[in-house]
Amino acid sequence: MPLEEYRAKRDFVRSPEPEGDRASEAPRFVVQEHDATHLHFDFRLTLDGVLKSWAVPKGVPEEPKVKRLAVQVEDHPLEYATFEGTIPKGEYGGGTVKIWDQGTFLLKERTADKFVVELQGRKLKGPYALVRFKGKEQNGKNWLIMKL
Ligand code: MN
Repeated sequence: MPLEEYRAKRDFVRSPEPEGDRASEAPRFVVQEHDATHLHFDFRLTLDGVLKSWAVPKGVPEEPKVKRLAVQVEDHPLEYATFEGTIPKGEYGGGTVKIWDQGTFLLKERTADKFVVELQGRKLKGPYALVRFKGKEQNGKNWLIMKL
């Protein structure tokens, strides 16, 4: 737990020192609607100090057991989670980016080929799995995302 040692040493009822906002420590996710050459959705999770990112052509499913392709793309900086705006035409990803959903998540399971996260967003809530395709298509960048 982050800040565990700091908190263990202090009684915040008696001391005016800040306890730290526990809610803001929860890792965040974002889904951005990206109207580029092809409209798609970018699903991003805060992990390892970056945003692990997948492009989801048909969007993250809101119903259980619907599997959608999620193509892993390069890690993005954490600050990208709040980015909305227009990338100029002709530039990489040119088009508009809008936040479709965002919130916090709990990491329930993580292996090289699978993540299970509990999303707590406005639209997306509940357990989701990302599972890498078996085989080596696209160098392992193809995953499936589904609500469990
Ligand atoms: Mn994109």
